[in-house]
Amino acid sequence: MSEGSCLVLGAGVTGLSAARSGGLPVVEACADPGGICRSYYVAQATNDRYAAPPRARAVWRFETGGGHWLFGDDPLVLGWLERFAPMRRYARRAAVYFARRGLLVPYPLQNHLAALGKEIAVQALSEMARPAPPAETLAEWLRANFGPTLFELFFRPFHERYTAGLLDRIAPQDAYKSPRDLALALRGAFGATSAAGYNVFFAYPCDGLDALVRGLARDLDIAFAKQVVRIDPIERSVFFADGTARRYGRLLSSLPLNHTLALSGLSVAEPTDPYTSVLVLNIGARRGPQLPDAHWLYVPDSRSGFYRVGCYSNVEESFLPARADRAELASLYVERAWLGGTRPTEAEIERYQQAVIAELQDWGFIGAVEVMQADWIEVAYTWSWPGSRWRERALKTLRRYDIFPIGRYGRWVFQGIVDSIREGLVAGSCMR
Ligand SMILES: Cc1cc2nc3c(=O)[nH]c(=O)nc-3n(C[C@H](O)[C@H](O)[C@H](O)COP(=O)(O)OP(=O)(O)OC[C@H]3O[C@@H](n4cnc5c(N)ncnc54)[C@H](O)[C@@H]3O)c2cc1C
Repeated sequence: MSEGSCLVLGAGVTGLSAARSGGLPVVEACADPGGICRSYYVAQATNDRYAAPPRARAVWRFETGGGHWLFGDDPLVLGWLERFAPMRRYARRAAVYFARRGLLVPYPLQNHLAALGKEIAVQALSEMARPAPPAETLAEWLRANFGPTLFELFFRPFHERYTAGLLDRIAPQDAYKSPRDLALALRGAFGATSAAGYNVFFAYPCDGLDALVRGLARDLDIAFAKQVVRIDPIERSVFFADGTARRYGRLLSSLPLNHTLALSGLSVAEPTDPYTSVLVLNIGARRGPQLPDAHWLYVPDSRSGFYRVGCYSNVEESFLPARADRAELASLYVERAWLGGTRPTEAEIERYQQAVIAELQDWGFIGAVEVMQADWIEVAYTWSWPGSRWRERALKTLRRYDIFPIGRYGRWVFQGIVDSIREGLVAGSCMR
């Protein structure tokens, strides 16, 4: 590799897009492309796992990171992706599920107050009409914007689970995920329904996310099973777990920002911003009589601690095995967060799985379970401490050595697949 040439780290959707637009080589720790955006297949009889659809048709399709839907109205990127895999489009069906009351309220909750009863609706509306004071933490921001009533009812317990308890210590972010619109809230208090938020519509590849990723990776120069264990930013070399090394001129790194910094032996004089990990449970089961037809549900009060449960097969029945009794089956993903740096033991995961199954069965969502898989995402959600300049300084430090972080984890920002792909495309073409 010549001194001036550019190397991409990571063959997730960001790295693949950069490699494609820039004609660049990629190194990837895993044996397959896709990063978190990866489907896999599970045989019902054996619970064996396959990266690509095996010949036998009676397999369940799941995703490593839980349901991965392509949000956002970006016709340019979606049009480009259609070259690799045809897509279908869907109108979101999401709700908040208060498990203890068995109550479903369409998402966003604040725009469907009628479902909570007149007293709560009036109280919540009057609180939301007050000007929101400035907020330092996510908890303060949510309380200020939605008022104490909705905060205690939903926003606090949900975000306690979603942020693994960081709620009172991290800066507010991703305001667009919890839209505050008084006119819509008022209409909702009178029973009108409205679609709002960043994911009103989404797309999904007709043949699964794996088909899209395989298409994106086709004919690229990707070295798999190459885990980067060290970067020498002075000598401009990347070292791998297998003992080999590779020179580079510039790096585009889609690895999490904290990892890229540590691998490069660089640091900044600021506390590192926090992250949370997610355990995704993928479950194939008999469909229960009470399973709602929602694509996913936000759950503030699950006994077993998860914050979201989604139903793949409510989006597409192709997630289910092609069997005569297909209509009686359901495939679900269940997400629970852990504080970054902590991880449950195998025994704890086993107990948690049993608790989730019991809870979903109690709710009438599922019957007997046929297959189940657990996937761990180490850096899943990235956060920042109030007033932190860690991210900005980390990016600047790496830039000095021609290391350019890209993507959701690379740049430590909340963004979906489509935005990550757009960013990869731009970064790659800038390296041409
Ligand atoms: C639980 C969850 C649900 C989500 N749901 C959605 C959704 O529904 N819709 C949506 O649009 N977005 C969703 N997202 C966001 C989406 O997953 C990301 O935007 C996107 O996958 C980012 O892709 P990436 O390529 O930047 O990162 P990654 O997919 O993390 O890719 C990084 C790659 O680097 C490789 N790598 C890591 N370390 C090394 C190393 N040391 N050496 C070599 N290679 C390495 C990894 O194996 C991986 O392949 C979700 C995220 C999470 C956590």
